[in-house]
Amino acid sequence: MNRFELAKATSVAEARDLLGEKKSAVLKAGGIDLLDHLKEHLVEPPRVVDLKSIAGMNKITAEADGGLKIGPLVTLAQVAADPGVRKSHPALAEACGEAASPQIRNVATIGGNILQRPRCWYYRQEAYKCLKKGGDVCFAVGGENRYHVIFGGGPSYAPHPSNAAVPLVAYGATFVLDGAKGSRTVAAGDFFVPPAKNPEAENQLAADEVLTEIRVPAAAGWKSTYQAIRERAAFDWPLVAAAVAVKAEGANVKEARVVLGAVAPIPWRSPRVEQALVGKPLDEATIAAAARAAIVGAAPLSDNGYKVGLLQVLLRRTLQSLA
Ligand SMILES: Cc1cc2nc3c(=O)[nH]c(=O)nc-3n(C[C@H](O)[C@H](O)[C@H](O)COP(=O)(O)OP(=O)(O)OC[C@H]3O[C@@H](n4cnc5c(N)ncnc54)[C@H](O)[C@@H]3O)c2cc1C
Repeated sequence: MNRFELAKATSVAEARDLLGEKKSAVLKAGGIDLLDHLKEHLVEPPRVVDLKSIAGMNKITAEADGGLKIGPLVTLAQVAADPGVRKSHPALAEACGEAASPQIRNVATIGGNILQRPRCWYYRQEAYKCLKKGGDVCFAVGGENRYHVIFGGGPSYAPHPSNAAVPLVAYGATFVLDGAKGSRTVAAGDFFVPPAKNPEAENQLAADEVLTEIRVPAAAGWKSTYQAIRERAAFDWPLVAAAVAVKAEGANVKEARVVLGAVAPIPWRSPRVEQALVGKPLDEATIAAAARAAIVGAAPLSDNGYKVGLLQVLLRRTLQSLA
C-alpha cells in the first residue's frame, strides 16, 4: 500500500474540494472495496477522502407517496433490516441482505456497493494490465472465465459485481450525483456503462462527483423479489441473480420489470422476459416460456456455459415464488 493522506470530509462540498485539489484522490465510504484496491496496488492515491464523517447521508427516508430516499452511507445491513424497505421494496432488502457476510454488511454502504469495481481475478491482480486498467486485452477471453459474462461482453467480460444495483434498476431508481459543475440526477438504468462504450469504467460517475442520494420510486401494487444462486451460501458473489417486479391486472401480469445480475458487465434488463410475462397469468407455462426467453442471445465463453442453464433455473424459482 502506498502512503497517503487521509482527509475526513464534513460536507459534500468539502469532499468535492478535497477530491478536486489532488489529482487521483479517491473517495472512501465503508472502505471494503477501496482497501482491497489499495492493498493490491490497483490504486495509489495521494489522498483518501473519507465520506463517513458527513452527517445526514446515512438515513433512509420514506416519502409520503411510498418512495424512498436512501443516503449512500446507509449500510447494507441497515437496508436489509429496515421494516419499511422490506415491506415496500423487498427485492432491495433481499439483495442487500444476501450480499457478502454479516460483518461486511455492517460496514459496507449501499453507495459503495453500487460503485464497487468488478471481481474479475485478472483485474484484481496487479500483474495483469487488462482493459480495465488501460491495457489492450481482456485476459478472461483466452483464460479462466468461469465467473464471467454471458451477455453484453466485449471488449471486457467482467460481470457487474453489485447486488444492490440489480433491484435498483428494476425499481426505476435514480442517483443524485454532485460534482464541480453542479448536481445531476441519472436513472439507474442509464448510469451503468457497457464496456463497448468504456472498458475502464462500469458507470458514468465522473472523477469529481459524489453520489449523494438514491431515490427509489413507490412500488405500491407491485410484487417483487431478488434471488441468486451462489457456489457457497455463506458469503459469495452470485453466479446468477435476478430482480423481478410484476404488477397484476386480474389474473394476468400487466407490467413486468426483470433485471439479471452477475451475467453481464452491467445490471442486465431483459425485455424478452418482460414480454414473455405481460398479458399472461403467472402459471407454469408462462414461467417456462419466460425462463426460455431469459437465455436468448446468451454468448457464453469457454468455461461458463453452465450459467445458461443456471439462469433458467433461477428464473423459474424466482417467478414461482412471486406466483
Ligand atoms: C468476501 C466478500 C464478499 C462479498 N460479496 C458480495 C456480494 O455477494 N454481493 C455484493 O454486491 N458485494 C459483495 N461484496 C462487495 C462489498 O459488498 C462491497 O465491496 C461493498 O459494498 C463496498 O461498499 P463500501 O462502502 O465499503 O465502499 P468503498 O470500498 O468505500 O468504496 C467502493 C467504491 O465506491 C466509491 N464510492 C463509495 N461511496 C461513494 C460515494 N458516495 N460517491 C462516490 N464514490 C463513492 C469509492 O471511491 C470506491 O471506488 C463482497 C466483499 C467481500 C470482501
